[in-house]
Parts: sequence; structure tokens; C-alpha cells
Amino acid sequence: QEIDANKTISNIVSTFKLKVESCGGHIESDLAADDAIVEVDEMHFTNVIFNLLDNAVKYRREDVPLTLRVSTADISPERLEIRVSDNGIGIRRDELKKIFEKFYRVPTGNRHDVKGFGLGLAYVHKMIGELHGEIRVESEFGQGTTFIIILPLTN
Ligand code: ATP
Ligand code: MG
Repeated sequence: QEIDANKTISNIVSTFKLKVESCGGHIESDLAADDAIVEVDEMHFTNVIFNLLDNAVKYRREDVPLTLRVSTADISPERLEIRVSDNGIGIRRDELKKIFEKFYRVPTGNRHDVKGFGLGLAYVHKMIGELHGEIRVESEFGQGTTFIIILPLTN
């Protein structure tokens, strides 16, 4: 299935707006102007982006309003970069390599009031792999986290 990633992301962001605003935060998007045709299953792609946004809301800080940014950029004619970044609680360096494992949840310094199975990112990682993409994470503990996805473009 071929979809325009920018259009799909834009739709997800608008449906997510209410959720972010209801916790006092805001969500911004900065999407590449050109068509970004990617060969993905739309349902799985939507779930991937949704999982990242859901985490940003769950792992927000209590002392600052959540700022969530979603951006896309054509980093080459064949590659689309999608960035989802938040100003949440962040992830310690030694935990970063484990968060994509099934059932892994950061045991300390985490928000224990939020529920989860530790499955969202394992799913995201698996799906991006199947789409011949890459995913990376950059985080500063106590400051925020950015997930970076690179997908092959077909246009
Ligand atoms: P589920 O997604 O299955 O409901 P979950 O959110 O705990 O549960 P993952 O989405 O796989 O599981 O995330 C794994 C862990 O990584 C989380 O429990 C949390 O500790 C950490 N984490 C994920 N995203 C963020 C983020 N944006 N900021 C801070 N920590 C995060
Ligand atoms: Mg999750």
C-alpha cells in the first residue's frame, strides 16, 4: 500500500490535539511540503506514530506543560525522516538500549502512575524493521526525548 506519510501524520496529529491539550500541553507539526509516498500498511504506520505520541503524553513531566513536536523532512530523494520529540521525563542513557525490548519499562525515575505493558516500542521497532526503515532515539534525562524514524520513499 502506498500512502502519503505527511497526510497521514497530519491526520493523526489533528486527532491527537485534544488529548494533548486536555493535559495542558500543545502539539506542533512541521511537515515537509512535498508528497512523501511510502510503501507501508496505513494501519501499522498509524499505530507506529500513535504509539510514539501516546508515550510522549504518558511520560510527560509534571512541572512543565508538554510540548510535542512532529516533523518530517526529505533527507535525500529516497529517504524520509520523521521526528517525534517531547520535553518529557527523558530516558537515562543505560536504559535507552532496552526500551525497544518486549515488556521492558524503565524501572526507576519513571512515572509509576501510568500503566503500560512495555509493548508499544517493541511493536514500533518491529514494524519499522519490516518496512526497511530505521529507528533511533536520543534522550536527555529530565529534559526530553526524540524518536527518529527513517523510511524509504517511493516517489
Ligand atoms: P505500552 O506502550 O505497551 O502501553 P509502555 O508505554 O510502558 O507500555 P513502551 O511504549 O514500549 O511501553 O515504552 C517502554 C518504556 O520506555 C516506557 O515504559 C518508558 O519507561 C520509556 N519511554 C518510552 N517513551 C518515552 C518517552 N517519550 N519519554 C520517556 N520515557 C519513555
Ligand atoms: Mg507505550
